[in-house]
Order: sequence, then structure tokens, then C-alpha cells
Amino acid sequence: MHCRLFPAVRPAVCMTVSLAVAGAGLLAFAPWQDAGKEWGVHDRARPQPALVTVGACCSAPSDAKVLFGGSDLSALQSGDGACKWIVENGELCVPKGAGNIQTKDSFGSCQLHAEWMVPESCECEGQHGCNSGIFFMGRYELQILGSNPNKTYVDGMAGAMYGQYPPLVNACKPNGQWNSYDVIFDAPSFNSDGSLKKAGTMTVLLNGVLVQNHREIKGATAHAAKAAYSAHAAKLPISIQDHGDPLRFRNIWIRSLGD
Ligand code: MG
Repeated sequence: MHCRLFPAVRPAVCMTVSLAVAGAGLLAFAPWQDAGKEWGVHDRARPQPALVTVGACCSAPSDAKVLFGGSDLSALQSGDGACKWIVENGELCVPKGAGNIQTKDSFGSCQLHAEWMVPESCECEGQHGCNSGIFFMGRYELQILGSNPNKTYVDGMAGAMYGQYPPLVNACKPNGQWNSYDVIFDAPSFNSDGSLKKAGTMTVLLNGVLVQNHREIKGATAHAAKAAYSAHAAKLPISIQDHGDPLRFRNIWIRSLGD
């Protein structure tokens, strides 16, 4: 087997690959499943992934839909009306009593990037003072909470799938600093009788650190109650929570998956 790699990694990688191929006989020519179609190894006819232009750190790639880029609020709304959250210095702010906002468009499985910050002046006390959240499909919450420092129940801290899973680690930055979420959300699906066909999942990086690793969503987010699924549409708006606290947001973009 021809094995061209950097000298530092060549021995281990080449040995692993060689052993795998030798052990599997004709494995190198065996097809595998990919999106319902079978392809041979190194099949030249296999479609090329779309080329996208990658931005500098954290800016939207060319195939993303920008939900908030610093000024335009046209992708967001409050209920059916205009977005009641306001823009200050290129940041999306939550005026007192404005309520939740949501995307105008509906989404199912997606990749989402969002940055959020708890102002330094906020006093976090458990769930109070610096709380928000991103609700995929309007019902599955990825918690936003100032958590450095701020002790609360762990399935309600930053990086938690609220009420279901604590984050693997606390990667939250102190108040006054920007945090970033990068999320792969797989939407659940339902049978025609309304029963659950496939649970949804979330993979979440908080400030580039993995905090949820393909976690299976247990159902719609509930407070102090067990989560449960109820059938819903394949695509729904994403909402951002107004928990009464003056959090700030910037650079929010999304890529739909599985369309
Ligand atoms: Mg919340």
C-alpha cells in the first residue's frame, strides 16, 4: 500500500491503515452506504461536496443564512410582528419586557452559530440575572446562562440541554466577555400516528470546546418536569429566550442540513 504522509505521523497511521486493509481482505473495494447510495472506496464518480468560502474565525460561510449580522433585524420577529429586540453598537439587545424573539423562517436539522454575552454589570444568582436560551424548533432549549462564576443546578448552566444534560465541562467565559455556540442540531421525526420515529440530537461546542456530544434529546424542554415529545412539523422557527435579563447577542448564522 502506498502511504504518503508526514514522517511524524507516517508509522502509526500507515500501520493502522495497512492492518485494517490486510485484515479485511477486499475491504478496499467494498462499497458502503452513503445517503442511501452505495459507493466504492475512492469512487471517482462520487459527487464532490459543495465548495464554500470559509470566513475568518466565526464569520458566516457563504452558504449560511445570516440571522443577525450587526444591523438587519429582518430575519427575526416577535410573534407575528416586528422584532422588539433592538440593535446597539452592532449588538442585539433585549429591552425590558420585549419577550422572546424567533426566526421568520422555519428550520429542521441545522448548524447554528451564535455569540452571546452577559454584561459585566449583571449579577448572576442561579437561574436569575443572566439567563436566556436558544430553543430549536421553538421547544428544545440549549441553555444560555452566565456560569463563570455562578452555581446552579448543572442541567441548567451554560452549555446544558436544559433539564436534560449538563455540559461535559464548564467552558463559559466570565461576564463581560463574548461566548460562542456552535451547534449541530438533528431534528426529531415522527410516525404518522404521532409517535416518535427518531429522537433529535444536539452536538454543542461552547467557545470551541465540546460540551454536548451527539446527545439524544429526551423531548421538549420543561422546567422541573420530565421532558416528553409531541409530534410537530418537520421545520419550525428557532426562538431566543427573553428571561428578563439584558443579555447581548451578535453574529448569528445558520446552515440548514438534510434538505
Ligand atoms: Mg434559559
